[in-house]
Amino acid sequence: MHILVVEDERALCDTIVRSLKRLAYSVDYCYDGLEAMEMLAVESFDLVVLDLNLPGADGMTVLKTLRQTDYDTKVLILSARSDVVDKVEGLDAGANDYLTKPFHLEELAARIRNLTLRKFTQDQVVLTCGELSFDTKTRKAAACGETLSLTRKETGILEYLMLNQGRPVSQEELIEHVWDSSVDNFSNSIRVHISALRKKLRGALGHDPIHNRIGEGYVMEEK
Ligand code: CA
Repeated sequence: MHILVVEDERALCDTIVRSLKRLAYSVDYCYDGLEAMEMLAVESFDLVVLDLNLPGADGMTVLKTLRQTDYDTKVLILSARSDVVDKVEGLDAGANDYLTKPFHLEELAARIRNLTLRKFTQDQVVLTCGELSFDTKTRKAAACGETLSLTRKETGILEYLMLNQGRPVSQEELIEHVWDSSVDNFSNSIRVHISALRKKLRGALGHDPIHNRIGEGYVMEEK
């Protein structure tokens, strides 16, 4: 899940980014509305956490610009303004949710979980594929009831493939949704993470639930 955090209060921004990375999301961030619009124009995100009062361009402008071309990316507005008018304006402009500052990081995480699962029309907290499960709340995967020790990248890949079970997912799509700009985007490094993940799954499950479909990508399927 690829998330962009736009918040000019740097300490708050850094706190949000750190806590989302700990939950194995891939996270990019900026402190400015204009920079946010540039990033949104060139990169694909699953969700944007968007402050309203921003230098450069305000959050409402960022949102309206995004919605001119993009209805898929979820937008969660973050604002100090608890004014009902702002909330209505934001939702009318195409925001998916609204959180008033100050808030608890747990609440932000819960809303993000809710929005990203809604995107894939899965509403259960625990995703399953045969004996494999992924708890979207604790961000932990388990095989046959045993918790797996996965890296952040492996966790991101696993979640994305589980959300898209039965459908081939290309390396390019994985880069868009699982990688952030802090890592190099060479396909070699993706292959390394995927093969490490598959090795762990094979070890824990006795089989590999991820299959290669030549020319199409990776598919996660029950045995
Ligand atoms: Ca602000």
